[in-house]
Amino acid sequence: MSADILDGKQIAADIREELKRRAAELTSAGVTPGLGVLLVGDDPASRSYVTAKERACEKVGLHSQETVLPASASREEILEVVRGYNADERIHGILVQLPLPDSAMEADVIETILPEKDADGFHPVSVGRMMLGLPAPLPCTPHGILQILKRSGVTIEGAHAVVVGRSNIVGKPVANLLSRKWELGNATVTVCHTRTKDLGAITRQADILIAAAGKHNMISADMVREGAVVIDVGVNRIEDPSAKRGYRLRGDVDFEAVREKAAAITPVPGGVGPMTITMLLQNTVEAAERVVANS
Ligand code: NDP
Repeated sequence: MSADILDGKQIAADIREELKRRAAELTSAGVTPGLGVLLVGDDPASRSYVTAKERACEKVGLHSQETVLPASASREEILEVVRGYNADERIHGILVQLPLPDSAMEADVIETILPEKDADGFHPVSVGRMMLGLPAPLPCTPHGILQILKRSGVTIEGAHAVVVGRSNIVGKPVANLLSRKWELGNATVTVCHTRTKDLGAITRQADILIAAAGKHNMISADMVREGAVVIDVGVNRIEDPSAKRGYRLRGDVDFEAVREKAAAITPVPGGVGPMTITMLLQNTVEAAERVVANS
């Protein structure tokens, strides 16, 4: 058996077409959805993520505004930019690219974003509302994963989903959304982490296996049940002198071996990654739609 490839790039392109229509409607109602971006420091990976997000905005008809501060920026300078975006009517979603050079500032910075402009879904109010099953901007990677499953026709309801990883941005929220009582949920969920005993015995029980550990090839074929659906969230830079940039991006799953066993699998790149940016655009469009609906 060779697994179906779950084409995150194509699913993302379909959703972006829908968002383009919604953005055009908003623009003709006089409100162009806007994303305010803040980048602190000059980390090349962060710079390239920000550029990709801004390009995606442009293609879908959103406007984006960028502020770059030096790595030495003070807490107050960073908060000032966020407050400026909060007050700016042309900005509907705010994205602070993480990690910040001083990660101790992150909680304060995120809490300063107005919850209604929280494009990443990381604000404690958004997280709390999500936990309660109330409407909220959803964190982009977990929501993107659920959209891949839904739009590929994978049955989530009743499935045993095993999540490897328990971070605040991927593992925890995806486990919450999968187990929630809603159209993209109703799975039975097990969350694994570095203290999990006999990881393979648990991952082998998964109908849906979500690998979000950030460890290249840690999910081998013997850890996967025949016919499982495998979502590879990991993005790992693997040095390769033959690659143009000297490295390739690879996932947490041993793709070639696992594809012979799984029913369906996401590739890296081209799986979850394009969905993450797309759900950021969606959160921004939805924030603008709320502004129009309430005006
Ligand atoms: P974190 O490092 O914050 O969390 C990793 C989690 O995996 C931790 O909970 C850790 O457990 C667990 N873990 C690590 N190693 C093992 C292991 N050997 N066995 C079991 N559990 C393990 O990472 P993130 O959640 O931020 O990201 C995970 C991966 O996803 C990364 O590769 C990242 O680059 C990628 N990513 C991709 C995105 C995309 O758009 N495609 C978006 C966001 C992230 P413990 O808690 O015990 O330490």
